[in-house]
Amino acid sequence: MPVGDKPSLRVILCSPRGFCAGVVRAIDSVERALALYGPPVYVRHEIVHNRYVVDSLKLKGAIFVEELDEIPDTDAPVVFSAHGVPKSVPEDARDRHFITLDATCPLVTKVHREAEIHFRRGREVLLIGHSGHPEVVGTMGQLPPGAISLIETPEGARTFVPKDPDNLAYVTQTTLSIEDAAGIVTILKERFPAIVGPHKDDICYATTNRQEAVKRVAPLVDAMVVVGAPNSSNSQRLKEVALRAGCPYAELVQRATDLDWEKLGAIKSLGVTAGASAPEVLVEEVLDAFAQRYTLAVETMAAADESVFFPLPRPLRSEAAE
Ligand code: SF4
Repeated sequence: MPVGDKPSLRVILCSPRGFCAGVVRAIDSVERALALYGPPVYVRHEIVHNRYVVDSLKLKGAIFVEELDEIPDTDAPVVFSAHGVPKSVPEDARDRHFITLDATCPLVTKVHREAEIHFRRGREVLLIGHSGHPEVVGTMGQLPPGAISLIETPEGARTFVPKDPDNLAYVTQTTLSIEDAAGIVTILKERFPAIVGPHKDDICYATTNRQEAVKRVAPLVDAMVVVGAPNSSNSQRLKEVALRAGCPYAELVQRATDLDWEKLGAIKSLGVTAGASAPEVLVEEVLDAFAQRYTLAVETMAAADESVFFPLPRPLRSEAAE
């Protein structure tokens, strides 16, 4: 029922949403480095894929670069982003005597170690993931060039020609769609029954839980708004998952100003979630924008409880405890 002159809107907040433990650790690493060393602190690549976060850290003295050769000779520390880096990057940093702080998410590092173990055991390694994503670049860069083959699609899995079909292993990007990854793994297992992989896949708890929450909410709402960046893999997947789970319309927005009111149309119910790199303040901004047009009845639908915590990188840790 409309209240006053505004129509009513049922809003279901997906839970969990937004920041994961790896993102919190990465942002805290930059903030802690700024506090310990003073500005500037160099950060290779966006520490997490969120412009608001990056701009906030820039204001505090972080300088973002894509490659180390953009950094002058300096005593300032260099932080590696949550997505992980190829092995060549810490090697180059050592050659240049940089102080480095590795904010790679421990769940990405786990995938790096898996790939290394497979390689040491003489297996040809397949990485299921999206070409060009920094996590994929980082994982492929753990092994010598050519040691890892990237599988992006079911078609890629169907046509891949191994050197030895009985000596294969796979790892996956941490932020894939659960269904897409499962489909590709099924094809690989059918074609190569001896292929070795993780127990299920390497998709992290945060990606899994956020997708699960969206799946529950999507069939109940007229539209889903995903707060997140266009270059954030897990945010893009949340939008896809919402559409596949039966939501008629889904939109990925970085800020409230990105909301497309025309496309959203005359909705009566709305789901809201946020990618793992999107801060809650931006969810609140989006809700405020809806509250200006609608009378909101907000509820939360939870798919999982999260209590995961990752300690800071070691060089920042003892100081952090003080
Ligand atoms: Fe780590 Fe998953 Fe968060 Fe990526 S999305 S930083 S892998 S917890």
